[in-house]
Amino acid sequence: MVSGGIATFPVIPAMTQPETFTVDTPSFYCDGGGAIAPELGHPRVFLTVAASGTIDCPYCGRHYILNQSAARAAGH
Ligand SMILES: [Zn+2]
Repeated sequence: MVSGGIATFPVIPAMTQPETFTVDTPSFYCDGGGAIAPELGHPRVFLTVAASGTIDCPYCGRHYILNQSAARAAGH
């Protein structure tokens, strides 16, 4: 336990909730840009939306949802 009467708590970043993005194509890339500083980003990684219509970036944890209506409109 804590001795000395001073308790310290780990600093929890405010952004613990992954952002959710909507993409119009099942294949796209994420490079962690935007909210994440470039030096804290990650290499450009190509992602393909799973059959469930969603995918999480393995690098920054962003949650991507395929815009089903747009994907259909782009098809023939
Ligand atoms: Zn990412």
